[in-house]
Amino acid sequence: MKYSDLVDVYEKIESTSKRLEKTHYISELLKKTSAEDIPTITLLIRGRLFPDWDKRKIGVASKLVLKAINTASGAGIPAIENMWKEIGDLGLVAEKVIDNKSQSTLFSFSLKVAKVFSNLRKLTKIEGIGSVDRKTQLIAELLSSAKPKEAKYIVRTVLEDLRVGIGDGTMRDSIVWAYMSVRVGYDAEAISIDVDREEYNKVVEIVQSAYDKSNDFSAVALAAKKGVAELEKISLIPGNPIKVMLAQKVTSMEEGFEKVGSPAVIEYKYDGFRMQIHKFKNQIKVLTRRLEDVTKQFPEVVDYVKERVEGKSFIIDCEAVGFDPKTDKYLVFQHISQRIRRKYNIEELAKKLPIELNVFDVLFYNGENLLNKPLKERRELLEKIIKEEKFKIIVSKKLVTSNKAEATKFYEESVKKGNEGVMLKSIDSPYKPGSRVGFMVKLKSEMDTLDLVIVGAEWGEGKRSGWLTSFTLACIDDDGNYLEMGKVGTGVKEKPEEGLSFGELTEMLKPHIKQEKGREVIIKPEIVLEIKFEEIQASPTYSSGYALRFPRVVQAREDRRPDECSTLDMVKEEFEKQKKK
Ligand code: AMP
Repeated sequence: MKYSDLVDVYEKIESTSKRLEKTHYISELLKKTSAEDIPTITLLIRGRLFPDWDKRKIGVASKLVLKAINTASGAGIPAIENMWKEIGDLGLVAEKVIDNKSQSTLFSFSLKVAKVFSNLRKLTKIEGIGSVDRKTQLIAELLSSAKPKEAKYIVRTVLEDLRVGIGDGTMRDSIVWAYMSVRVGYDAEAISIDVDREEYNKVVEIVQSAYDKSNDFSAVALAAKKGVAELEKISLIPGNPIKVMLAQKVTSMEEGFEKVGSPAVIEYKYDGFRMQIHKFKNQIKVLTRRLEDVTKQFPEVVDYVKERVEGKSFIIDCEAVGFDPKTDKYLVFQHISQRIRRKYNIEELAKKLPIELNVFDVLFYNGENLLNKPLKERRELLEKIIKEEKFKIIVSKKLVTSNKAEATKFYEESVKKGNEGVMLKSIDSPYKPGSRVGFMVKLKSEMDTLDLVIVGAEWGEGKRSGWLTSFTLACIDDDGNYLEMGKVGTGVKEKPEEGLSFGELTEMLKPHIKQEKGREVIIKPEIVLEIKFEEIQASPTYSSGYALRFPRVVQAREDRRPDECSTLDMVKEEFEKQKKK
């Protein structure tokens, strides 16, 4: 396929915010994509090079792209830099520069999607001496044969900043429209569809389920093109990360029971961080909730799982909780978060800040996919296969009850022990990867916080110079757009001994800086902060339509993916609840 065919679709998608319209464009593109190009197109359409479970990044800095534009066009670096300052988007700069150049050039051949993909993939493999030059060459090669609009999207893809906003749901529906045998009457005028709902939902569910298991739209699209039987063959594969199931929030035990039904499985809500652990071919893989591989950072976890979980192959879902080996007291997440990032002296840190694994679910066991088995059965299996030992590995403490008073007592006991509250789970529910369906809800003792992503900051002055300060926060909408909701500085410390410091946060953010204008810095959405606040207010100033009154940083959540931060819907819901009070 020609790259320009893909670019036409990018342009159309970028010019609309309507989900159905996007779905229509993508599905039309998929229909004319050959099987050979499907894996590439399903990735590139969302600006990606790898399936969702694969955390490799392109990781090319803006400066390098600038040099590539210079190499490809002959335009001077200062001139390109000035344009960049003015326009703000290097993609648009590339488009303009290539347009100026191309007035004297005739395009003799067209760039193929496969060529773009191949060069971009190469970027991720180059390391060591001379790597900057080689990377510049790979990008410049593409830009020299690109038409202006193509240059725009090549640059944006390289910078991992495509800005087309295609959520998982849109991608799934596009596959349904393109390949599944269900009639979808799309009305372009009214931007609406006419379908047999029951039949349509059934087909959507089949595609969603294949995605839940593979975490890979390329595989799903390829199978869908061949038919339902092929989709149903897609299975969980231990070793390939799958998205974790997320929890909704409730504010009372009553609401909890309403959501999950009774009797409910109620468990302690431990204050640590999520670990998804895979065993396959005698190998253990430890993943965070972001699905980043942290096996090396947690050698003791590997030992516990090897020694104390029976089975040849499995995927288990756990909360890792830190404790102080001197006092045997549990520690809150903040203390152990440094273990996630640690690259050296790992054994030493593991002794100083050991963790206990609290296992609460099993998704795959000895060749069998358990996602659709009821929670009750999954828990029973867990209790059988784990040899518990306190401060090493235990099965999360649970109570099965329909009795509100009993449940409340259990909740109080949990909070007294230093936990955050309880989780209530639906006893017959399946495991839904990646979704916040109401099969599991959390009831916390403390006022709730929001998890927001940093999208901007300001360089400090005076004694704060050299540090990023005043962080712009954003939530996310259904299409993966980050929407601003105000700034925060309070809660971040000057001295690292006192908690999350400006110095530390600056180091975390630096690799993600997209652009600087004076003291203002635009930052790629990567780092998640947990934020406390007095109140949510409606605000015309920010793109989300909301702002926080007296926001305060509680901590950095390095275990969270940016696209798992609080959603616009959650903010809205919270706002409405507040109003009622
Ligand atoms: P939150 O992070 O506030 O959205 O709450 C959900 C998180 O609580 C999960 O992602 C887990 O990391 C954590 N958690 C702690 N204990 C449990 C438990 N027993 N079952 C499920 N999740 C738990």
